[in-house]
Amino acid sequence: MSGADGTIPHGELPDGARVILASHNAKKLAELQRILTAAVPDLAPEQIISSAGIELPDVVEDAVTFEGNALLKARSAAAATGLLAVADDSGLAVDVLGGAPGIFSARWSGRHGDDEANNDLLLAQLGDVPEQHRGARFVCAAALVAPDGTESVELGEMRGALLRERHGKGGFGYDPLFLPEGETRSAAELSPAEKDAISHRGKAFRALAGHVAQLLG
Ligand code: IMP
Repeated sequence: MSGADGTIPHGELPDGARVILASHNAKKLAELQRILTAAVPDLAPEQIISSAGIELPDVVEDAVTFEGNALLKARSAAAATGLLAVADDSGLAVDVLGGAPGIFSARWSGRHGDDEANNDLLLAQLGDVPEQHRGARFVCAAALVAPDGTESVELGEMRGALLRERHGKGGFGYDPLFLPEGETRSAAELSPAEKDAISHRGKAFRALAGHVAQLLG
């Protein structure tokens, strides 16, 4: 329940919470906890919470860039909770598709979050594209918004190439089709720690950690 001014009463937030990640994704929360606690003195993992179980207002992600959508989510979470809010927005940008699927990555096949259909469509679209033109990158924008309105956004990228069939069972989304630069395994064959170390999201969250340290310091 939110109060008359649209804010969530503090009694409904976990005790000691200092940073909120505007996402229900438990893997993203764990990654953010690992990165921020390593970079920010005196910040404990349990002080970084996700919005799972907290009724944040719905955000219409109607910006046309990763940065814009990440900021929309972080602003809304900061305003509703009074906490320092982090949000990310990410996707795959394929060179020969002029940067698509981009912000449409999650719903490229027309059904939001249908990874199998999204991968099938991408494979079909690139069917006759030769190896030297199969370059792509994952992009992540991570936004940080403080309740006083201070904002920062950091971008992270992971370059690579698109495979001709799925490899590996780990990860999510387009990972089975993505061969990170310098790797012999797809992103779906890397351990979570190996992926964090080179991923677009890992890079963007690590870049944001310095800003979190300043704001909490
Ligand atoms: P979101 O930012 O988590 O909502 O990601 C949007 C979409 O981009 C996902 O549904 C995936 O299709 C794609 N995507 C983003 N990051 C990754 C990744 O690390 N691996 C594979 N797909 C990703």
